[in-house]
Amino acid sequence: MKIQDIQAIQLLLAAPKKIAIIPHRGPDGDAMGSTLALHHFLLKNNHQPTVISPNDFPDFLAWLPGSETVKIYERDTQNCIKILEEAELIFTLDFNAFHRTGEMEHTLAKLTAPFIMIDHHEKPHDYAAYTYSDTSYGSTCEMVYNFIAFLNKKEDIDKTIATCIYTGILTDSGSFRFPGTTGNTHRIIAELIDLGVENTQIPVLLYDNSSFSRLQLLGRALQNMKIFEEHKTSYMTLTQEELDSFNYVKGDTEGIVNYGLSIRGIVFTAIFIENREEKIIKISFRSQGGFDVNQFARNHFNGGGHVNAAGGRSEASMEETVNKFEDLVKKLKL
Ligand code: 5GP
Ligand code: MN
Repeated sequence: MKIQDIQAIQLLLAAPKKIAIIPHRGPDGDAMGSTLALHHFLLKNNHQPTVISPNDFPDFLAWLPGSETVKIYERDTQNCIKILEEAELIFTLDFNAFHRTGEMEHTLAKLTAPFIMIDHHEKPHDYAAYTYSDTSYGSTCEMVYNFIAFLNKKEDIDKTIATCIYTGILTDSGSFRFPGTTGNTHRIIAELIDLGVENTQIPVLLYDNSSFSRLQLLGRALQNMKIFEEHKTSYMTLTQEELDSFNYVKGDTEGIVNYGLSIRGIVFTAIFIENREEKIIKISFRSQGGFDVNQFARNHFNGGGHVNAAGGRSEASMEETVNKFEDLVKKLKL
């Protein structure tokens, strides 16, 4: 971050303020971890922060400290609009374009209070008075740690804030495996553990906490997997009917896409998940090495993300969407 920006933000935060903190729609561990970490930090500094999520967060993140205070725009729209309009400062974390908040984008576009963006995705939009955007980081949580350090407030990081930051670093780095994971990441993790973060319990809460039906849904997705060996690509599908038959609840499909890369020789994978309510197919892309799924998602499936992890959507049927994907894959030389 630029020194002038840090100084300007220090000035903004010098007196207590009403502050809104916003993660992207479909918040994941990094979005929830970063917004809640900042929430606890601002509370400690006498502000009145409110985390407003565009829609509900998955159950497997409900243990995060402070998650019970999060307002859900989709469920409580009028109240959320009021909080947003009254906010004197607005943080947007783990995304960089208003449309990533879904319906909420129209409300955000009308607000006059200054925005601060903290994010690690490609191609940030230009809506924030202060932008801390850096795609070299594996998680927004690591950047929130830096942000607090830039403000000279590292001593404010307690077990609660550390737990939120740890969660986002863990989830967005694929448990410290993805390329953005650096020595510095591990040094921060070490500090967080020294602050009391329960580093052996958190992965259990996140990953070893499945329902039986979720595991069966994973089984179905794996059975649906198709492989294009020549093109080093695999993909899976889950229709709404399949989701229903395994009593799908939000969060159940999280992480399934990664199994597509666990086959020897496969470097590109996708999962197509039907959402009948939104009339879309939600797509997750993952790659290993140099193939840029952010670009692939942007070019063909109305999405974006990072080099090795991106998402997109299709308004066509599952069959048409998958056919389009197969046609594209057959042209790939990976
Ligand atoms: P996931 O597959 O876990 O939903 O998303 C992987 C990454 O891509 C995340 O960093 C997420 O923020 C980003 N992403 C997912 N869906 C979209 C989308 O529709 N548009 C953009 N720009 N990014 C997305
Ligand atoms: Mn993230």
